[in-house]
Parts: sequence; structure tokens; C-alpha cells
Amino acid sequence: MTDLLLLPGDGIGPEVTAQVRRVAQALTPDLKLDERPFGGVSYDAHGVPLTDEALATAKAARAVLMGAVGGPQWAGAPRDKRPEAGLLNLRAGMKVFANLRPALCFGPLAEASSLKRELVEGLDIMIVRELTGGIYFGEPRFIEDLPGGGKRAVDTQVYTTAEIERVARVAFELARGRRNKVHSAEKSNVMDSGLLWREVVTDLHRREYADVQLEHILADNAAMQIVKAPKQFDVLLTDNLFGDILSDAAAQLTGSLGMLPSAALGVAGTPGLYEPIHGSAPDIAGQGVANPLAAILSFEMALRWSLDRAAEADRLFAAVEAALAGGARTRDLGGALTTVQMGDAVLAAL
Ligand code: NAD
Repeated sequence: MTDLLLLPGDGIGPEVTAQVRRVAQALTPDLKLDERPFGGVSYDAHGVPLTDEALATAKAARAVLMGAVGGPQWAGAPRDKRPEAGLLNLRAGMKVFANLRPALCFGPLAEASSLKRELVEGLDIMIVRELTGGIYFGEPRFIEDLPGGGKRAVDTQVYTTAEIERVARVAFELARGRRNKVHSAEKSNVMDSGLLWREVVTDLHRREYADVQLEHILADNAAMQIVKAPKQFDVLLTDNLFGDILSDAAAQLTGSLGMLPSAALGVAGTPGLYEPIHGSAPDIAGQGVANPLAAILSFEMALRWSLDRAAEADRLFAAVEAALAGGARTRDLGGALTTVQMGDAVLAAL
């Protein structure tokens, strides 16, 4: 059985994933790794961004780690064969409905944030975003011509009790292992889906998680609070659309896109999907200068949440911290290390 399936993908994906492979070989040499083409490179080779065989291998693995997909060379591909469509199909096929996005500020990088050091130093937020429902998937969705000219576009925001409850459960469980606090963000003041969201979270909290501190917050206020006093948050639970936006805002607090890992989880016992939040960065692809830490920290999350290797995850996290404290910086962090040299720094700290 494959422990970790690597899907390096396009652009800088293969460059950063290669560093994950090196780290895995050093830290957990017993893990069985496997690899498949994915995204644009799979489209070029097989005509589809995700083959049935690659999806089946992903579903049978214990964890999947993806690099990044996409690039201008595939902009003309049919919409359903674009690299990004492969990613949506992978998430849907793996049934990963809870997206975990930590926004962590490493002390040595506090200066790189656009906020003042005292606001972000020690920051540790976990955003839990619903990933497979809501307005990105709701039907009907269409653009139609209007009789008198002009057009009308419709998207549908839709959530069921079950969809809200299963992702809220992930947030409460995580909070118990952290600082025991969940903020649930929606727009219950103006949206029915927000009203149901608040009701379901409140009810689940009362029934099963009364020991966890719960606060409801309107999503627009959450956006304000994230840039005003981000350290008030521990776990922030929200839907697909608001989560997309709030997690990017929170990400920016920590300095560079090249530092940010993520996980997408389904029901217990099924493989998690781990990926840096950055894209394929066509502007720097092939130059060997991408920061591999987001990918390496995604592996750290895989060790913790899917591979049952918390001790190794702790060691890896400490090694990343030590490398940064020792001054290791790729170009996005204001330094001059190459991707491989940053990998070297983490390996040396390990
Ligand atoms: P991007 O994240 O690829 O790049 C944004 C900027 O951040 C670029 O200047 C890039 O050089 C920089 N950057 C990103 N990751 C970096 C790293 N590890 N180290 C140093 N610098 C880094 O976003 P984009 O330019 O909007 O998108 C490029 C392509 O990636 C598009 O095709 C897009 O669809 C795709 N994309 C894929 C994913 C994914 O695979 N999950 C996510 C976002 C975008």
C-alpha cells in the first residue's frame, strides 16, 4: 500500500515536491512513496489532467501530496480538461470536504508581514473551510441572455445540515487539541444559508462540544478582525466562499505564499490531500528559486493528520523553525537561497 502519493504537477510543483521527497527519505525512510503525473503534464501525456488510474491510486493511498497545477500553456485547453479542473476532480473524487489552512507566523519572519510585529508574532490560526459545497458547486448556475439585451448570471449558495455538521465537527475536534476556541463565520444577517449554518453549529456545539468555547461572527467582521487583532482567533470555521477569501487574508499576515501549507480531509480513515496553497508560479518556474517550505510543511501536516507520525511531524516543524532562525531565506523571503539549498537547510536542521 502506498503511504504517500506525490502529485508534483506543473510549474514549480515538481521543484518543491522534490524537496519533500528528500525530507521524507531522511525523516521517514520506511514510508512507501509513489508518484503520478497530474495537471497540465498529465493533460499533455494522457489528454486529461487526472487519469482514472491516478485517482484510484490516490484513493487507495494513506495520504496524497500535491505540488501545484496550471500555467499559461494550458489556458486554451477545454474547460473540463484544464489542470485546475483536475484538482477539483481530485478533491471531489477523494471526498475531502474540510480544508485546513493554518496561518502561522514564524518568529524570524514576523518582519515580513504587512502588519506590525506585535500583531503577528506567535500567530497560530487554523482556518477550517468547507470545500465541496456552497456557491462553487450549487445548482442552478448559468449565464443567460436577456430578451431586451444584456445577460443574467446565477450562482447558487446551498448547504445541508449534514454538510455543515461534518465540517463543524472537524473544527471542534481540532480546537480541543489547540486552544479550545472556535469562531464560526457566516452571514446569518442577510443569507438563509448563513442562518442554517449558525443553527446547525449551535446545535452540534450544545449536543457534543459544550466544553469548547464557541463564538459566532459575521464574515465581514471576521475579515476586519483578521487584520485588526488576528491573535484572538484559534480555529475559524467557515463556508467555501468566505473561507476562500478569509484564508487568503489570513495567509498574507504570515509573509509569503511560499510558506503556507494546507490539508483537505474527509471522513476518518480516508486519505487526506495535502498541498501548498500557492500555484505553479509560472513566473519563476524552472529557475530553481521557489520556496519549498509550503510543500515541506504540507508533508508535516500529512505526517500528523494522515500518517500517524506526530513525533516526526514535531521534528520536522522544529527543523523548519531552526532553519529559519539560522537565517535560511529563499528569494520570496528576502534571501538568496535556491530551492535545493532551502531543502539542504531543513535537512541539516533535522
Ligand atoms: P501563484 O501562487 O502561482 O503565484 C503568485 C505569486 O507568488 C507569483 O509571483 C509567484 O512567483 C509567487 N510564488 C508562489 N509560490 C511561491 C513559492 N513557493 N516560492 C516563491 N514564490 C512563490 O498564483 P498565480 O500566479 O495566480 O497562478 C499561477 C497558476 O497556478 C495559474 O495557472 C493558477 O490557476 C494556478 N494555481 C494553482 C493552484 C493549485 O495548484 N492549488 C493554486 C493557485 C493557482
